[in-house]
Formats: sequence, C-alpha cells, structure tokens
Amino acid sequence: MEAETNITESKNFIEQIIDKDLEEGRFDHVQTRFPPEPNGYLHIGHAKSILLNYGLAQEYHGKFNMRFDDTNPTKEKEEFVNSILDDIRWLGADWEDRLFFASDYFEQMYEAAVKLIKKGKAYVCDLSAEEIRKYRGTLTEPGKNSPYRDRSIEENLELFENMKNGMYQDGEKVLRAKIDMSSSNINMRDPVIYRVAHMEHHNTGNKWCIYPMYDFAHPIEDAIEKVTHSICTLEFEDHRPLYDWVVRELEYPNPPRQIEFAKLYLTNVVTGKRYIKKLVEDGIVDGWDDPRLVSIAALRRRGFTPESIKMFVELCGISKSQSSVDYAMLEYCIREDLNLKKPRIMAVLDPIKLIIDNYPEDQVEWFDVDNNVKNPELGKRKVPFCRELYIDREDFMEEPPKKYFRLYPGNEVRLMNAYFVTCVDYIKDETGKVVEIHCTYDPETRSGSGFTGRKVKGTIHWVSAKHAVQAEVRLYENIVDEEKGKLNEDGSLNLNPNSLTVLKDCYIEPSIENVKPEDKFQFVRTGYFCADMHDYTPEHPVFNRIVSLKSSFRLSK
Ligand code: ATP
Ligand code: MG
Repeated sequence: MEAETNITESKNFIEQIIDKDLEEGRFDHVQTRFPPEPNGYLHIGHAKSILLNYGLAQEYHGKFNMRFDDTNPTKEKEEFVNSILDDIRWLGADWEDRLFFASDYFEQMYEAAVKLIKKGKAYVCDLSAEEIRKYRGTLTEPGKNSPYRDRSIEENLELFENMKNGMYQDGEKVLRAKIDMSSSNINMRDPVIYRVAHMEHHNTGNKWCIYPMYDFAHPIEDAIEKVTHSICTLEFEDHRPLYDWVVRELEYPNPPRQIEFAKLYLTNVVTGKRYIKKLVEDGIVDGWDDPRLVSIAALRRRGFTPESIKMFVELCGISKSQSSVDYAMLEYCIREDLNLKKPRIMAVLDPIKLIIDNYPEDQVEWFDVDNNVKNPELGKRKVPFCRELYIDREDFMEEPPKKYFRLYPGNEVRLMNAYFVTCVDYIKDETGKVVEIHCTYDPETRSGSGFTGRKVKGTIHWVSAKHAVQAEVRLYENIVDEEKGKLNEDGSLNLNPNSLTVLKDCYIEPSIENVKPEDKFQFVRTGYFCADMHDYTPEHPVFNRIVSLKSSFRLSK
C-alpha cells in the first residue's frame, strides 16, 4: 500500500478570506461564478479561473454560476458561447441549472442607473470621448469637473431616457457616475457607466441602443445572482473601489466582495487571441483547436485530460504576484495522470523491416502481454509475432558508437515480450539506405519461459508486419522557437518551423483496432498518444503525440 501523504496544505489567501467572511457572518453561504466574454476560445488560464471558482463552491458546499458577460455587443459571437460551454463541461465544472447571460439583466441595469441619477450620483455628460480623457487628469494631476456635472436630477432623468430612446448618435452623450474628479484612483474620476451604441446585440437584438460599461455592469450582475465572492484577475485591483461604490450606492443587501489573483501565464506559450487568430487565418494552424495551441479545446484534442489540467492548476497555486510557469509542468501532469491508467502498446514510428531467417515462414505466435506492467489491473492482451517484423530505424546502426546496446551487426538484443535476436546481415538500397535487417532468433529465449542462460543489454520494441495497423502519427513541438523567445523584434511571432511533424507510415500492433477518437495510450519508448478527435477513422487511424516519456522537469518538494 502507498504511504498516505501527511501534508495538510495550508489554505490559500482566497480561502482565508472566505473563512473569515463566514466566521464574521458577512455571508452565510458561498456563491462563485465564471464570467467569460463570449469573444474567443478559452485557454489554460481560463481553466485556472474555472477550476478555482468551481472548486471553492464545492469546498464550501456553495454554488457555482456560469455567466456570459455579454454586455459589449461589438465583439461577441454566438459560436463562442457553445465552445465555451463545451470546454467547461469537459473540465468537469457543473453550473447545474444556473446558466446566465449578463444581457438578461439590461433592464435591471437601466433601473440601477436611474436609481443613481435619482440619488444625485450619476449625470448625463455631453463631453466627447477625447474631452473626457483630457478632463480626467493623470496619475500626478487631478481631473477637472465636467461642465455638465451639476445638471439637475430632473434634467438627467430626461436626458438618460432620451439616450435610451435613441435620440442621440453614438458618442454624443454618456452617463457618468458622480464620484470624485480629484480621487487618487483614476477609475473613481466620474467613470462612464452607460454609452450610446446603435448596435445589434446577439441576445437582445435592437431593443437597446445604450449599453452599460463593464465596471458598472459586473458588480450588478454579481449582486443580482447573490454572488458572495467575485474572483477576478489582478488588473481589476484598481477597479475594486468602483466595484464597492456601485454595490454600496445601489444598496444591495450582503453585497458581493471582489477578490483578485494573479493570471496564469505559461513561458514561451502563445495565448493571446490576436496571435492565435492570425495563426488560424494564415493557415499556420489547423483551427482554434490545433493541438499545438493551449486553448482548452486544443489541449483536449492533443490528449490532455481534465484531471491533468486540474493537477496542473493546483500545482501552480493561487497567488497575488504575477509569474510564469513552464510548459514542462503541464507535461509532467499528463504523464502522471496517464502513467498507470493507460495501456502500453508497441508502435513503430519510423519503420524498417526485420526478418528472422530461422523463424518458420507461416508460423504466428500470440504472446500474452501485460497492458501495463506497473498496473496489473489493466489485464493482458495478445500480441502476434511472426517472421517479418517492423522495428524503429533508430534501433539499428551499421556502425554503432560506444554504449549503443541496440541492434547492430553481430549484436544480440531482446525483442520486447518475445525472443532474443542476433543481427546477421542487412540490405541497402541504391542510395545506401538500410532497408532490411536479417536476424536469427534463439527459441530458448522466449519471454516468460524462465530462460536465464545469458543476458542482453538492449531491449527494443517491434510489431508484426503482417498484423500491424498502418497509421499516421503527428509529433509536435512548441509553435514558437523556445530558444529565441516568443516574439521577433517587429512583434511578430517567432515561429518554429518544426512545430509539426507528420509521419504517414507508422505501424501499430493490432490491439488498437477498436480504438475510438480521444482514446489514449502509451506507445512504449516513444510517449503518450491520443487518437485525434476529428481525423481518426478506423480506415485512416491518426494519433497525436501528447507528450514524450522523458522530461527534465522535476517537481520540487
Ligand atoms: P480579454 O483579454 O479578451 O479580456 P480575458 O482572457 O480577460 O479576455 P474573459 O472572458 O474576460 O477573458 O475572462 C473570463 C475570466 O477568466 C475572467 O474572470 C478572467 O479574470 C479570467 N482569466 C482570463 N485570463 C486568465 C489567466 N491567464 N489566468 C487566470 N484567469 C484568467
Ligand atoms: Mg476580459
């Protein structure tokens, strides 16, 4: 039995805040949410946010809401709504029946704005965007009051109603919160909370021509849903006073609390929507879920599991300081996850024929092979052996260097799960390439026969030429050149020309015949692989390499 780990992990700073809130009675329950804008595919960073919010809800027996922050009609697309829901479902976060759209609250947001006007806390301003910027001041200079700041409540109510009724052009008037133009926090200098925008919205159509700004809308969405802890990333830290102002002035009972944490960044990995869009448009990648990308859809297609992503975000931890994590840590997590769970089968990626001269021509032996030597629970399978096999080209050398223990003229190796063979000859084509290796085998050395006569230093894998399934295998490297960094001097991506290698002529043992898309395996000695979810068919099997077997990454204890 495995020794139980005794590490009682200390709580992260968000859990500490929640504990305190519950203890002091600020809240009697925990309610979190994940609020993406439906303007792109989710990536590994979002996975952290999803699993954090969902995990906290579970830990505190609370609730987790799914909410699309679709208050900005310019950028949102319905296609993203579906991809985002698929990704979150796949990650295992469950919003039950609480799927919300911020645009469903437009009416309440409008009423909230009217309430602020009635309290003398908001006013309609005629300054242009450019003028508003000038009046706002800088980090070192205070702002100036707008000449429209002291309009009467009645006038503001009328003008705001006119805004809603489409009487103004885009940009002609805005509604601003009346806070403090000399605040040291620029976000508090009478921020715009509603703008005129004659645009169709994917949910509300042409019903509205005024739209709330994010900083006004978000706290209202949280308050309406009775969210207790509104968790966001660090760039919103300076906006928190405004968040608090909005929920206070609107007099919500038990207003939500905003908590910020540091975004997850991966070193030398492309996550920016702008870059990925360009890669897709330029045809450099095969869509938003190309296995070289780190969108959640791409990670899934590559073969990462929800469990491995969960392990990864847990290892990264939650913090207040920005840092960047190595991709190798993600690879470590998928190896850990698949190691004992998946069968280890034999696949030859760069084949060369091996003929056993003294093995009977028509004979076939079926060997009983462990599916996973480290995990007997996965059972056994039958693997066919005959006179003609394929082995990997790199397992043979005409003139081996020192310490090369695999096949070379005169040397004996073990064929994994089968016999010892000795190389007696090899044939080259007219270009000098080795095309066929001849061996003899020793029938005494059959695996599992208890043979102890002699030992060999090398063990290589193989497949039966007659029984093997031909397949396409795709190997990946980082889409950008790691050595030289992510970007060129001109700001373009520094692409790695070797990010994709397609091997069309691979041979895999016949046990993969009943594979389904997304099934995962270890191919012994070469890595973990996944049947491609789009391109795999029984007639044309396609496997993606998730990760190779070895890594330099070590988990620091
Ligand atoms: P954009 O750059 O277009 O604003 P975004 O990445 O901020 O996109 P949102 O849809 O606004 O996308 O994000 C949804 C949630 O995911 C937010 O709560 C945001 O803070 C969180 N999030 C976004 N990127 C990361 C990241 N790298 N690490 C952790 N959380 C993130
Ligand atoms: Mg955003």
